[in-house]
Amino acid sequence: MEFLIKYPPNVRNRFRNTTVYLAVDLKLKTKDKRAIAIGGSAGSSVIVVDLLNDDVKKTLDHEYFHILDKSDDPKKDNSTWALANPHGMRDYTFLTSAEAVEHGSEFEPPIPPPGFARIYGKEGGPDEDQATIADRLLNPVLAGSITKRAMEDAVLRKKVEMETGCLFDPATGRFQRALTKEEYTARLRFRNFQYYSTWSRLPTGELTMDSDFWNAIADGKPKKFE
Ligand SMILES: [Zn+2]
Repeated sequence: MEFLIKYPPNVRNRFRNTTVYLAVDLKLKTKDKRAIAIGGSAGSSVIVVDLLNDDVKKTLDHEYFHILDKSDDPKKDNSTWALANPHGMRDYTFLTSAEAVEHGSEFEPPIPPPGFARIYGKEGGPDEDQATIADRLLNPVLAGSITKRAMEDAVLRKKVEMETGCLFDPATGRFQRALTKEEYTARLRFRNFQYYSTWSRLPTGELTMDSDFWNAIADGKPKKFE
């Protein structure tokens, strides 16, 4: 799919063993679920997307994030991520995913809650918090609004820096440069790089999803990696 060319080849490679199924009227355990990602063993994963979904591309960015992030691995530890919230894990409402999906699809408010990309991130818990920020940052139509909000919203800014591994300047609304590992771990409390700053890092240490990459999407003109 055309939208995949915005991912650098080293990141795109990670999707190679992911099978995408397109479904119609996807009915899971939940009433209104429009997509699901299932991380498999030995690097093979499955995404099912409902074609009735109003934005299949955005949903695929979201589901690919879950695959890369191993969101469905029970061993995944979100405690460091949650420290970005003023009250840690207590800032999530932890509805069941069914309730969160229903709520998210039917009552999406025009202004998301502070610190979150979408209300679904707050109600669905840390994995959905992370994936909703990713699907906004990667979308050339929506990224500008989340970076604009990050200028005023220090919690959201911290989460954006966690995922991108890049320093964000609240005065200009631009990503400035990649954080060093020392800066990343000191500012964001992880012991290592996480998310796109891990997945796109070359053996030489450079990021292929660097500050220019994220600024270009926020400007609505993603780089193309043919
Ligand atoms: Zn999700």
